[in-house]
Amino acid sequence: MEAYLYESLEDNKVKCNLCSHRCLIKDGGRGICGVRQNAGGSLQTLVYGKLIARHIDPIEKKPLFHFLPGTLSYSIATVGCNFRCQFCQNADIAQMPADHNGRIVGETCSPSSVVAAAEYGGCQSISYTYTEPTVFFEFAYETAKLAADKGLRNVFVTNGYMTAEALEMIHPYLNAANVDLKAFNAKYYKEICGARLKHVQATLKLMKSLGIFVEVTTLIVPDLNDDPAELKDLAEFIAQDLGPATPWHISRFHPTYKLTGSHPTPVKTLTAAREIGLKAGLRYVYTGNVPGNAAENTFCYSCGETAIERRGFQVGKLRIEGGQCIKCGAKIDGIWQ
Ligand code: SF4
Repeated sequence: MEAYLYESLEDNKVKCNLCSHRCLIKDGGRGICGVRQNAGGSLQTLVYGKLIARHIDPIEKKPLFHFLPGTLSYSIATVGCNFRCQFCQNADIAQMPADHNGRIVGETCSPSSVVAAAEYGGCQSISYTYTEPTVFFEFAYETAKLAADKGLRNVFVTNGYMTAEALEMIHPYLNAANVDLKAFNAKYYKEICGARLKHVQATLKLMKSLGIFVEVTTLIVPDLNDDPAELKDLAEFIAQDLGPATPWHISRFHPTYKLTGSHPTPVKTLTAAREIGLKAGLRYVYTGNVPGNAAENTFCYSCGETAIERRGFQVGKLRIEGGQCIKCGAKIDGIWQ
C-alpha cells in the first residue's frame, strides 16, 4: 500500500516525513525502520495489516495509570521500529527487519477486524504498542478512525519520534499516549537508541498542546542514564514543559538484547529517582517492573490518601469520585470514564 506523508524527489528518490529521521530513500531502498520501501518513486508501507501481535491487555500494562483504570485495551503491533535501542525488550519483533535481512511477517488483518475483536473482547480502547506504532502509521490511522466511530479510545505507546505532520494527522482520533523519554542526554539517545532527544521533547510538547493525554516512561539503565543530576533535569522538563499533573513511570531495567553485560536496576536507584520526581513537583511518580512496590499506587498529592491501589497490573480500590480524592476533594488528574 502507498505510504502516507512522503515527498517525491528527482531520480525516483523519496523523502519520508513520517518520523523525525526523515529518510531520503533511493529507488528500491528502505528507510531506517525497514518497513517502508521506495518502489519506483512510490513509497510503500510493507506492514499494512500485517499484525505480529494482538492481545487483550489491562490498560495498566501500557502503562497508563490515569486513563480508564481497570479497563482492557486491545493491543496490536506489526514488526519494525525506527529506533535501535540496545536494551529493546521486544527486539524479536521490533528489530526483526533490521536484524534478519529485512524480514517482515504477520497475520493479515483489516482495521474493521481489529475493531470488531476489540468490541467482542470488551475493550474500551485500542493500543498501538509493543513495537513502534509510528512505523505502522497507516494501519493505526485507519483503525483508530474506525474505532473512534464505534466509541472506542485510541492509545499510542511510542518513542515519540513521529513528525508534527504525523501527529497532527492522527490527533483527532488519538486520546492518550505513553511516551518513552529514555534519558535526558543527547549522547545516550544517539549512541544507545540511534535517535535525537530534541525531537522527542518536541513531540511531547505538541501532544500536550493538542490535548492528547500523556504519561511518560523512563527505563533506568545502571550507569547509563541513572545520574541523579540528569534525572532531575528530566523530571523538571516534565514538570515545567508538560505540567506537574503528567504521570511519570520509572521503570526497572533487566539485561536483554545487546545490553546483557549489565545488571538489573537496583530498587534503591528507582526509589531515589522517584524522590527526584516528587521534588521536581510531579504529582504522580511510579516505579515499574517492581511487583508489590507501594509506589505502584496513586497517592493524592494533596492529602496523601491512596487514591488507587494497584498490584502489578491489577487495580484494587479506587478512592476517587467524580475525578476527586474522596478524602480531601483534590482533583486527581486523568481520564476516569
Ligand atoms: S518512518 Fe522514519 S525511519 Fe521509517 S522510512 Fe519514514 S522517516 Fe525513515
